[in-house]
Amino acid sequence: MSKPVLSMRNICVDYVTDRGLVRAIDSVSLDVIEGEILGIAGESGSGKTTLAKALLRILPPPAVITGGEAYFEGRDLFSLSEPELRALRWKRISMVFQSAMNALNPVITVGEQIIDTLLAHDAGTPGAARTRARDLLEMVGIHGECIDAYTHQLSGGMRQRVGIALALALEPALVILDEPTTALDVIVEKEILEQIGDLQRRLGFAVLFITHDLARMLQFADRVAVFYAARLAEVAPAEELRRAPRHPYTQMLLSTVPSIRGGKDRQESIPGAPPSLLDPPAGCRFHPRCDRAIDLCRERTPELRELTPGHSAACHLAE
Ligand code: SF4
Repeated sequence: MSKPVLSMRNICVDYVTDRGLVRAIDSVSLDVIEGEILGIAGESGSGKTTLAKALLRILPPPAVITGGEAYFEGRDLFSLSEPELRALRWKRISMVFQSAMNALNPVITVGEQIIDTLLAHDAGTPGAARTRARDLLEMVGIHGECIDAYTHQLSGGMRQRVGIALALALEPALVILDEPTTALDVIVEKEILEQIGDLQRRLGFAVLFITHDLARMLQFADRVAVFYAARLAEVAPAEELRRAPRHPYTQMLLSTVPSIRGGKDRQESIPGAPPSLLDPPAGCRFHPRCDRAIDLCRERTPELRELTPGHSAACHLAE
C-alpha cells in the first residue's frame, strides 16, 4: 500500500481579530498519499486555501497556526526553520496560485523566472537552466520561443501554464493547486486539468487540488475531502463520494451539480448560508441548514469517523 507523502494531524489556524480568535481551520487531520490527487472541496471561506497556505507557512497575518502537526516526508513543516523551509518550498512542495498574473513577476520574462527558480536551488548551470526552462514550457504546451515573453504578452491560460511549469521545475513530490483554473473559460480549464493529470501520471507527484467546483473535482481527483465551516465533513474516494455520499452537506452539494443527462429544471441551491466563524453554531455547524438535524446535532459536535474503509464522515446520523 502506498504511504502518505504528507500527514496532517489536528491542524488549527486562528485569525486574531478585535473580537478575539476566529478559528479558520479546526482540528483537521488528513493524509495525502504518494502519487494521488486529493481534492479539497467546500464553499468560499470554508478554510481550503487557509489550509494550503498553512502547510507552506505563507499565511499572511493576522492568521496564525495554533495547533497540530504536518509531517511531510517525515519532517514536521511547522517546526522547520525558515532556511529549512525555503530549501523545501518549490523543490519538494510547490503551489500554483489562483491568479498566475498576480503570482508571476511582470517585469522579467517567464524564462528568467523559471531559470531563477532553478538556479536558486542549484539546479545546474545558467545554460542548462535555460534549456530546462524551454523544456518545461513545452511540457505544459507553450512554445519554447515564449521563453523571452513577458506575462502581459501571454493569455490567461498561457500564464496559468507558466505557473504550472514553475511549480514542476524542481520535480516536487507534492504540488498544491489552489483553484488553478478559476479565471479561465471551461475549454481552457479542461485542457489544463487534463494536462496536469497527464503530467501527474507521468512524473508521479502527488496533488492537493483545491476548488469550490465539486463537479470538476469528481472528474479529476482520486479522493475528495469536503470542508464545511473550517472542519472536515467527509473524506472518500471520488467515485464513492459521487455514488454514495454520507454527509447531508455533501449530498446537498452534489444535488446542486447539473447533470448532462438531467432535465432543464432549475438547479437547487443549498438553503441558508455558511455560519460566521466569529460565532459558529454549537454542535454540528451544519445543523441550521440540515433538514435531518435532531437535538443531538445542536448539542454535540460530530467526530469524523470511518464508516467503511477509506470513507469517513462527521455526522451523527451517517451510519
Ligand atoms: Fe445534519 Fe446532524 Fe448530520 Fe450535522 S450531524 S449533518 S445536523 S444530521
